[in-house]
Amino acid sequence: MLCKCERKAVINLQHGSLCRQHFIHYFEDKVFKTINKYRLIDRNDKLCVATSGGKDSLTVLYLTKKYLKKYKIKENLFALVIDEGIDNYRATTIKDLEEFCEEHEIKLINVSFENEFSYTLDHAQKKLDKKPCNTCGVWRRYLLNKYAKKEDATKVITGHNLDDEAQVIMMNYFKANTKIASHLGPISGIEKFKGFVQRVKPLYFCTEKETRLYTLLKKFKVQYTECPYAREGYRSHIREMLNDFENNYPGTKQGVVNSFLDILPLLKEKAKQNDYTIKTCNNCGEPANKNVCNACKTVEVLNHA
Ligand code: SF4
Repeated sequence: MLCKCERKAVINLQHGSLCRQHFIHYFEDKVFKTINKYRLIDRNDKLCVATSGGKDSLTVLYLTKKYLKKYKIKENLFALVIDEGIDNYRATTIKDLEEFCEEHEIKLINVSFENEFSYTLDHAQKKLDKKPCNTCGVWRRYLLNKYAKKEDATKVITGHNLDDEAQVIMMNYFKANTKIASHLGPISGIEKFKGFVQRVKPLYFCTEKETRLYTLLKKFKVQYTECPYAREGYRSHIREMLNDFENNYPGTKQGVVNSFLDILPLLKEKAKQNDYTIKTCNNCGEPANKNVCNACKTVEVLNHA
């Protein structure tokens, strides 16, 4: 397998094989083009990069910094890590992240489920009758938004890649969650709603395989281990299904995301027409669908379990 430049290729993509040098250029160019095309970063933004120490978050953190430098934008960013309290897993990735942030001179803010909610995820999942990923998702989104606001961030940058997005799109199709689906895309969450910081995804068009290779070629110190709960959720079935399709029919995931982007304006329009009011949680003051937000509701249930 040779690259167009006759050097040995490190990856075989649909449009051809690429060597190390050309792949790194292709990958970074794709991320920067995504940021520019969807206007994910403005000159005056204060950026909160959601990190975990895994390959996606280190890549997006590194490339956000590189993007700001390339376009001569003032470096107004910090990394935020949420320690869920998952034994034999998160502590190691956080250690890698701390070293990474020190090396690249990036401020890191560390918050944890235990400090915030008085329960680690390990503890909570033993008491609750629901999948750990559901609790984790609710608490993570809550803390991301809360601490981004606390630091006056105007955007939250996440490391979601094409595989993640294709999985969530299919999950929402299968569950007929068109309202939730309308919040997906390179700019996710509820756009420009008071109380929510907009979330943006520069790795939106990068596959997991490409991101993994990028971190290997850049020699980032990353644990390629999976969260011990990752196999327990609905999502893991969707992931396996999509991986199977991708192996047999390359380009499937890209097709899922591209066709979704075609109909996204219609979904957003439909969501706007519905009466959709955001309330404020009576308990913590954060945005909520009901009188008490999902994060506080979960703590309430745990306290009575
Ligand atoms: Fe949380 Fe589930 Fe992700 Fe683990 S796999 S970090 S429990 S959302």
